[in-house]
Amino acid sequence: MATEDVFHRPLQDLRISVTDRCNFRCVYCMPKEIFGSDYPFLARRELLTFEEITRLTRIFAGLGVRKLRITGGEPLVRKDLPELIEMLASIDGIDDITLTTNASLLPQHARDLVNAGLNRVTVSLDAIDDDVFKAVNDVNYPVGPVLEGIEAASRAGLDPVKVNMVVKRGMNEGQIVPMAEYFRNTPHILRYIEFMDVGNSNGWRLDDVVTAAQIRDELNAVWPIEPLDPNYTGEVASRYRYVDGAGEIGIISSVSEPFCSTCTRARLASQGQLFTCLFAGHGHDLRTPLRDETVDDEQLADIIRGIWRQREDRYSEQRTNETAPLQWKVEMSHVGG
Ligand code: SAM
Ligand code: SF4
Ligand code: SF4
Repeated sequence: MATEDVFHRPLQDLRISVTDRCNFRCVYCMPKEIFGSDYPFLARRELLTFEEITRLTRIFAGLGVRKLRITGGEPLVRKDLPELIEMLASIDGIDDITLTTNASLLPQHARDLVNAGLNRVTVSLDAIDDDVFKAVNDVNYPVGPVLEGIEAASRAGLDPVKVNMVVKRGMNEGQIVPMAEYFRNTPHILRYIEFMDVGNSNGWRLDDVVTAAQIRDELNAVWPIEPLDPNYTGEVASRYRYVDGAGEIGIISSVSEPFCSTCTRARLASQGQLFTCLFAGHGHDLRTPLRDETVDDEQLADIIRGIWRQREDRYSEQRTNETAPLQWKVEMSHVGG
């Protein structure tokens, strides 16, 4: 039976962050000045083990979750990730497992991930120009290996690969058309994402958001696009196709056209806190009951059901330029995208 929140949104998707660490320092996500060498990243023992993640996911599946997204930090820096995928793929009721990654470690892992049961991958790439991309990831990482990661995923059978590009004014808006040009006529689906005010450290301002409408207009002026129907209710990206038949793109308008009313996503942070919104100020600790031998699966299910039933989040529908900086929010690298 579906588990519904206050606004009758069912619990259907679970995003699992497997680490808070990353080998990139994207300026909009983990700015170097804050995530420096002295940043207190979680110790190994604080992270949920693969067994703990699997146990919790089995319980979530019993509450209605069907889709999983593995994220981070950078999920592929967590050792032996294919083992976790294999454990999750064996859970009854889970019919889709996706990974979001910066692709730097994808070439060596793509085949194992697919063999373990990974169904799809989303690769983050914010520019096709090396200089722009290096300035965004801030660790001087070139575009070439990310493109190799995309091709490795494609060869391993993960087509179509979704490619996420966060667009921020003054950072990479000049890359909207060049990215489209690169990914047109490929099986991959480029998705533009509005810059969001996640966390407290990325210096978000409404003026820095390049809106979905602006992105649509810019593309339309070069290659006309037309809307496509969503694949399913609650799909976060609005879908478009090039009128000339060169493929599909998506635009994720979390700021200018929010989609809270269909948000069915729960987020599990790497140390076991449950967040019911990407912009939540606090998570619910599931690790303590999980590690308490007197708490059984039924009781854990009751705890999660209780949290979801009280859920009233609709942050993006309420956000304003004035309120956005005031509220303390969990960091994106902590809870995953
Ligand atoms: N490291 C992996 C990656 O980059 O794909 C997974 C984690 S990352 C936090 C997940 C996604 O969130 C990425 O596509 C990233 O671009 C996006 N993201 C991070 N900060 C964001 C922000 N402030 N606004 C919009 N998207 C953001
Ligand atoms: Fe790392 Fe992904 Fe955040 Fe970039 S967006 S810093 S790759 S977690
Ligand atoms: Fe869901 Fe929160 Fe995003 Fe709204 S703001 S779509 S409730 S995660």
